[in-house]
Amino acid sequence: MRFSEFALTTLKEVPADAEIVSHKLMLRAGLIRRLASGLFTWMPLGLRVLRKVEDVVREEMDRAGALELLMPAVQPAELWQESGRWDKYGPLLLRMQDRHNRDFCFGPTHEEVITDIARRELRSYKQLPVNYYQIQTKFRDEIRPRFGIMRAREFLMKDAYSFDADEDGMRRSYERMHAAYTAIFERLGLRFRIVDADSGEIGGSRSQEFHVLADSGEDAIAYCDDDDYASNIETAATAPPGGARPAPAQELEAFPTPGVKTIQQLCELLDITPDQTVKTLIVEGDDVPVALVLRGDHELNAVKAQKLDGVASPLTMAGDAAIREAIGAGAGSLGPVGMPLRVYIDHAVTALADFTCGANEDDLHYKGVNFGRDLDEPETVDIRNVVAGDPTPGGQGTLSIARGIEVGHIFQLGSKYSDSMGATVQDENGKNRSMQMGCYGIGISRIVGAAIEQNHDDDGIIWPAPLAPFDVVLVPINMHRSDDVREAAESLYAELSDAGLDVALDDRDARPGVKFADAELIGIPHRVVIGDRGLARGEFEYRHRRDSESRDLKREEVLELLTESAVSS
Ligand code: ATP
Ligand code: MG
Repeated sequence: MRFSEFALTTLKEVPADAEIVSHKLMLRAGLIRRLASGLFTWMPLGLRVLRKVEDVVREEMDRAGALELLMPAVQPAELWQESGRWDKYGPLLLRMQDRHNRDFCFGPTHEEVITDIARRELRSYKQLPVNYYQIQTKFRDEIRPRFGIMRAREFLMKDAYSFDADEDGMRRSYERMHAAYTAIFERLGLRFRIVDADSGEIGGSRSQEFHVLADSGEDAIAYCDDDDYASNIETAATAPPGGARPAPAQELEAFPTPGVKTIQQLCELLDITPDQTVKTLIVEGDDVPVALVLRGDHELNAVKAQKLDGVASPLTMAGDAAIREAIGAGAGSLGPVGMPLRVYIDHAVTALADFTCGANEDDLHYKGVNFGRDLDEPETVDIRNVVAGDPTPGGQGTLSIARGIEVGHIFQLGSKYSDSMGATVQDENGKNRSMQMGCYGIGISRIVGAAIEQNHDDDGIIWPAPLAPFDVVLVPINMHRSDDVREAAESLYAELSDAGLDVALDDRDARPGVKFADAELIGIPHRVVIGDRGLARGEFEYRHRRDSESRDLKREEVLELLTESAVSS
């Protein structure tokens, strides 16, 4: 590709609305352009990267025996009513009507459509296992689209769905996808971790996520290498603390706390630390609100809490008016003593003696609160996020926390969809049985952003070789004045292209500084500068994007180095 014909549009300025580095660099390098909230155009340069991700994913899916198909993006409501998700999926689902006022949605995922295909096409256990996949545009009306294409509304996903005759078969299909995903992320050159995960809206039993590790990641991952444990913090379990609780040393005492609304203010007033306090959060319930009680320094875990009996899902904090109506006090002065609502107490709270909490009366708190005396011995539940240093569930080590970007998610669905939609096959005895399903997603477009989060410097993107839009950029100096430079550049361009490399020839009539800056911003792995002075010595100036210095190479050496790197990537 000749840059004179490529309409590169790089930006010097950092766009104001971009929060994280990948979003900034994708805009600056001209990979994407925003159309509206969560909607982006993949510009020619960005599309080259997206296609490279697609190619790797497609190759590994094919290698794993999956069959590619392509389903419609628009789906009839009837299928979603059959599975029961039309009412359950909520505002993430973009709904629409056709000219006959029939309901449709733009697919956020394709379990319903593929189960419909399977129940029509697959009749006998002899046809199984089958794993269908597609690479296709999804739409989810995200509440907070952000980070550019990483949390977009329209995005590209690879979704696969396996069908087996029994559960053992389903587990084998799942393991195959686990292996294929591992191969994909290794080939893409990304640092990643596989973690246990919540099944969320999709449903089913077992699920695991693949996370690209990056400080800007939206997800927190709890892991312990000693114990071979890794889980999304959403599902990382905590156990009741062992050991005896200290005996009460203080009397229960109510004390005025005018203006105190937060744990921090309470701690400053009493000169105590948050882990000596208890906080009470009121969430919406199925009929009436529910109280959730945590140690002052701990964070509520929404995924765990919304599974509790009587708690509304998705978890929703109760409003001020509802809290006042139910309890007669504002959110800043609540506590478990005399709480008129159903109360769930987190495991960690039971270890506390002489703690401080709100008194369910405005501007009033209690100190010296003790279980078994001021309130009943609690039955506790797990509703908090784990923190670094917590014991692992196996008990062999302690947890560390890292941040990750979810790029893949695999599920064992079982018969959730095949039961509700009647997707059966005949077994060996001629009896009809629901097929056992798995589903497997990869965020193709999100991978592009995640790769940049992990691979960049002050000058721009540093693509892992398999993702780079071009393998090498040739930068001729004064090509428009020097025939020698032009001839050397053109012949190298032709030879490298013939060798199968994606070569960019920066033949724009621009200053070398501009060309170098663009090459670095775009993140092309190899750069070869061609100038009169070097040519006189029979040399080219070579630099890898990760190197700080360039070095002089003979033409043969350039060819050898680049064709070798093409073979190894
Ligand atoms: P998240 O927790 O990030 O919202 P999810 O768990 O809802 O994602 P899945 O249903 O597991 O997503 O979808 C499969 C994959 O699609 C995800 O692992 C992710 O890589 C990608 N993906 C999901 N939502 C988006 C989005 N809004 N923008 C870009 N990619 C997305
Ligand atoms: Mg997921």
